[in-house]
Amino acid sequence: MRQSTYLAPTMRDVPADADAISHKLMLRAGMMRQIASGVYAYLPLAKRSMAKIETIIREELDAIGAQELTLPALHPAELWQQSGRWEAMGDELVRLKDRHNRDFALGPTHEEVITSLIKDGIASYKKLPLNVYQIQTKFRDERRPRFGLLRGREFIMKDAYSFHDTEESLNETYWAMHKAYSRIFTRVGLTFRPVIADSGAMGGKDTHEFMALASVGEDTVAYSDQSDYAANLEMASSARPTPPASQTHGQLEKQATPDAKTVNDAAEQLGLEADDILKALVVVIAEEVNLLLLRGNDELNEVKALHELGATSLRMATEEEVLQAFGATPGSIGPVGVSDIPIYADYRIQAMDKIACGANETGVHYVHVGPGRDYQVTAYKDLRTVQAGDPSPDGQGTLQFAEGIEIGQVFKLGTRYSESLDAKFLDANGKAQPFLMGCYGIGVSRTIAAVIEQHHDENGIVWPNEVAPFHVHLLALNVKNDEQKALSEKLYELIRSKGMDVLYDDRPERAGVKFKDSDLIGLPVRIAVGKRAAEEIVEVKVRKTGEQLELTVPELASWLS
Ligand code: ATP
Ligand code: MG
Ligand code: MG
Ligand code: MG
Repeated sequence: MRQSTYLAPTMRDVPADADAISHKLMLRAGMMRQIASGVYAYLPLAKRSMAKIETIIREELDAIGAQELTLPALHPAELWQQSGRWEAMGDELVRLKDRHNRDFALGPTHEEVITSLIKDGIASYKKLPLNVYQIQTKFRDERRPRFGLLRGREFIMKDAYSFHDTEESLNETYWAMHKAYSRIFTRVGLTFRPVIADSGAMGGKDTHEFMALASVGEDTVAYSDQSDYAANLEMASSARPTPPASQTHGQLEKQATPDAKTVNDAAEQLGLEADDILKALVVVIAEEVNLLLLRGNDELNEVKALHELGATSLRMATEEEVLQAFGATPGSIGPVGVSDIPIYADYRIQAMDKIACGANETGVHYVHVGPGRDYQVTAYKDLRTVQAGDPSPDGQGTLQFAEGIEIGQVFKLGTRYSESLDAKFLDANGKAQPFLMGCYGIGVSRTIAAVIEQHHDENGIVWPNEVAPFHVHLLALNVKNDEQKALSEKLYELIRSKGMDVLYDDRPERAGVKFKDSDLIGLPVRIAVGKRAAEEIVEVKVRKTGEQLELTVPELASWLS
């Protein structure tokens, strides 16, 4: 590819709001541009890397018998209403109407669509198990899109769904996918950990998140220094007996005063978003009341629902009460739309330990509505019930913490969707049974960003071989010099004839600019054609190690192969 006409507009400065390293580097290297908040155009360099990740995913999934298909992004509301998630997804679901005023959603995930498809397609257990996947754009109206591709509102996901007649069969596919994920992320070049995660109400079955370790990560991984034990913070905390309040760890940030009568008042005083407080509150409420915990924005709806019920104490409402109050099906609680919610005045929490068990989405702020006073909202930083050095829950070694980016998740759904969408097969006795299901996601665009978070230096990206947009960056240092130009053209052909991807910098730019851009784009091998072109000698630099060599053309040819 000739860089003179290649759409990779590099830049020296980036917008002030680009705060993650991958976000900055992808903008600077001309890999992407923002179109709206959380919405990006992937330029050719990004597209090439993503295609390589997708190829790895396809190879590994096809190898375990998964089948690729493409499901629509436009979903009729009815499917989401049947599963209960039309309400439960809250504001994260992007909704729209067609010209006939019918409701639709843009798919944030595809359990509903795939279940309805399989429902009409499979009648017998003889056709099971089935494992299908797609790689496709997803839409989630994230409350706080940030960090570039790490949390977009439109992003690319690989999502897979499996269908089974028995638990054993589901278990087998679950672990086959788990292993395939490990192979995929290893090949992509990531340092990662599968961690035990909280399945909440999604059937209460097994689930693992795959975490790429990186300081920008919004999740915390707790792992043993002596065994394979690794869990997200919530699971590591709940696996241990809760320590008394005095032993929870967290820095007191600030406290709201008694004249804060509502969540919004308190939010304003503390400089938090009301949502953060609600999210933290709900962790407490959900644990105490044992409500159906859902994913995404659902927790907010639960708080709102509880408030609507006039709930005033910890035993505010049972799941049945909430469902009954809103005529909702299991898995959905609504309605939404209450913006100014009074803090539950007689809400009693005995000790801080209840609060410490959950991390809210921001992972930073927690709320304490405490006894003594009517209520009190307190923001804590890094409040944890477990801390580095505590014994690991598996009894082996001690716990360490690391920040992680969730790049994928595998999940045993059980019959959560087959029951609500009435998807059944006939078993060996001719009896209709709901499918057992698993679902498996990988954030493809997030993975690219995670790779860059782990592979860069002060000069730019340092691509791992398998996902580099090109293998070789060939620089003609002075295109006005005939010998340099001629040798560069010759090498361009030679490298391509070896089946390698090459980006050829044939731009009429100064050598200094080319070197800088080359480090920024970060291809594994740089070949510079300069002053010694007449002798057919070029300078080779390995981006990762900084190793430099002067090679003749025949030497280069054998070095490359
Ligand atoms: P998160 O906890 O980060 O919000 P999630 O648990 O909601 O992610 P899943 O529903 O498990 O996400 O989706 C599967 C995968 O899709 C995630 O593991 C992640 O890699 C990716 N993903 C989810 N949300 C986003 C997003 N807003 N931008 C980019 N990738 C995302
Ligand atoms: Mg999410
Ligand atoms: Mg998650
Ligand atoms: Mg997840």
